[in-house]
Amino acid sequence: MLSFIRPAIAQLNAYKPHPGSIIGSHPQTLDRLDTNESTHDLPEELKQKLGELYIYSLEANRYPDGSHQELKEAIAEYVNESAQISPETALFPAQICLGNGSDELIRSILMATCLGERAAILAANPTFSMYGILAKTLGIPVVTVNRNPQTFETNLEAAQKGVKSDTSVPIRVVFMVHPNSPTGNPLTPQEIEWLKELPPEILVVIDEAYFEFSQHTLVSELGQHPNWVILRTFSKAFQLASHRVGYAVGHPELIEALEKVRLPYNLPTFSQLAALLVLQNRQPILSSVGSLLEERKYLKEQLNQISQLTVWPSAGNFLYARLNPSSHLTYETLGDRLKTLGTLIRHTGGGLRITIGNPDENKRTYQRLHSLLDSVSIPN
Ligand SMILES: *Cc1c(COP(=O)(O)O)cnc(C)c1O
Repeated sequence: MLSFIRPAIAQLNAYKPHPGSIIGSHPQTLDRLDTNESTHDLPEELKQKLGELYIYSLEANRYPDGSHQELKEAIAEYVNESAQISPETALFPAQICLGNGSDELIRSILMATCLGERAAILAANPTFSMYGILAKTLGIPVVTVNRNPQTFETNLEAAQKGVKSDTSVPIRVVFMVHPNSPTGNPLTPQEIEWLKELPPEILVVIDEAYFEFSQHTLVSELGQHPNWVILRTFSKAFQLASHRVGYAVGHPELIEALEKVRLPYNLPTFSQLAALLVLQNRQPILSSVGSLLEERKYLKEQLNQISQLTVWPSAGNFLYARLNPSSHLTYETLGDRLKTLGTLIRHTGGGLRITIGNPDENKRTYQRLHSLLDSVSIPN
């Protein structure tokens, strides 16, 4: 209708974030297992601490620290520790860029590499949807390849053809999630080998949003691969989804480019304080990962008993499952009925992505899926 809007934008549907509520009260208690948030809220004493910082230290009338220096230093220390990097090869704060969620960094990467150029991105579907969505908003072509239907490993032959093909719009960025969402599989040695062999004019983005659950990082490879960048977030294991803090780790020259395209005050003071606080308290916060992995194992065993479901192994805080062809329900109907019973899960990538919740929620996930899928007689 409004002719000044770019046709590519007019044709897009806006990303539908789940509604939520800013004061945390929900009309009806739902098990919110659809966005892979941490099942734990921040511990009470840390909230107390944050509240005190807000009241006694934070200047609400002042712009945030636009350099993010203190937080970058704390993140550098954590990243080095997480990859057991020796002091001689340690990453430094100038190798870190902070975003309003890692979503912002994905957009910054696209702006710094592809925008306004004859350049495309490559991703292996199903995968995190934001790469494609953000590329489309910027008019950047997206090349997709498929995955092995059993293991979800990237079809490397197709991927290699994609990067080699002599088109007028060559691929400039390859996006990989380690472990992948929604399918939960970590990169295999073959996939990592392929990434290592990509030419220096292609940027490799490795999204480690679920690193704290998988405990496998490729950070130590950054030194040998100046064309790699790793994304991480505080939205998952660090229990800070409400604060929107993500970071990129990579070559200082790439980081400098990301700093040029970001908005000057992209990260509110309160979010910077919260991220610093959870890093300072990372031991108690991350200690809950162990029990979550136990719950994941237990829920997977239970869901495996549902004859109409196939459940895959996962290295993240979620499970991926598909309905067997014999199922009498469609994904839409199943999702609606589960919601009526009080459980929200995500229908994505041709299957179901189910966040691991607390033990009670997980019990209900199993019971509800079991009652909907296995207890109903099949109509003929
Ligand atoms: C959750 C998630 C993110 C995190 O996004 P934020 O914007 O930092 O909240 C990034 N990548 C993947 C694959 C994710 O699943």
